[in-house]
Amino acid sequence: MSADTPVRADTSVTARTSLHHVAELGVILVAAGRGERLGASLPKAFVELGGAPLLAHGIHTVTSLPHPGQLVLVVPEGHAGEALALADELVPEGSQWQVSVVPGGRERHESVRFGIEALHDTIKTVLVHDAARPLTPAAVFERVLDRVHQTGEAVVPGVPVADTLKQVDDRGTVISTVDRASLVAVQTPQGFTREELAAAHDSAQARAVTSGAGDAPTDDAEVVQRFGGTVHVVPGDPLAHKVTTPADLVMLEGTLLHSEANSFAPRSGRHSATPQSRAAK
Ligand code: C5P
Repeated sequence: MSADTPVRADTSVTARTSLHHVAELGVILVAAGRGERLGASLPKAFVELGGAPLLAHGIHTVTSLPHPGQLVLVVPEGHAGEALALADELVPEGSQWQVSVVPGGRERHESVRFGIEALHDTIKTVLVHDAARPLTPAAVFERVLDRVHQTGEAVVPGVPVADTLKQVDDRGTVISTVDRASLVAVQTPQGFTREELAAAHDSAQARAVTSGAGDAPTDDAEVVQRFGGTVHVVPGDPLAHKVTTPADLVMLEGTLLHSEANSFAPRSGRHSATPQSRAAK
């Protein structure tokens, strides 16, 4: 955190790890979206999948990674207590992760910026992940992390594009077919050195202040690209599918019932409907 950045008022931290571990890995789990296209009464990250909030799946996956780390949960204003309670319930025994909670911003990139500001000084590598991708396998986190360590540059997971893509004009008439061989659909977690991610977000923020709203970047790789950074792609996973509409939730519920994706057994009964136990009933 820079010296001139005020600590946001309702930042809270749970310490669940021995201070012998110096965490160099930070994961920012952005969960502050309203999720209007989902049409739920709750913010999207608190809507349930497989008997647990979307946010719970991400917390469990990250805090089960075999590294010391800091997980920053960026949640809607007024939901910090609920997020901390979830973390207290879900962080596995022996986990080497500390969990911090901060309130999010109006746009995703603003939420990420608040997450960066909450990182401890020891953090050198940062993964930014959407809570809206609850079934993302741990292997994707590890692939992205390995490549960031190899290259020292930005890394995103990507999957091939299955549909034929057409470029259309504003009347909906096809102009051309886009060659999909060179295209990938990009997912999260996206990995960066802390230095580059923070500098790119600072620069984007400075540009937005001087030029007005402008076109907001939709992922962090775009923020880094605009800053002049190189972005590498590693294989993503269809399980990292993002929940946007009710149909996505139905699809991922089906995935949970028919696979061992992201299974976990929280300690209390409240979120105890694991994929396996549900499937076994
Ligand atoms: O809206 P969309 O699904 O693209 O959001 C992707 C992720 O960014 C979600 O996990 C959402 O909670 C998060 N987000 C956020 N703050 C916002 C908007 C989105 O943390 N203002």
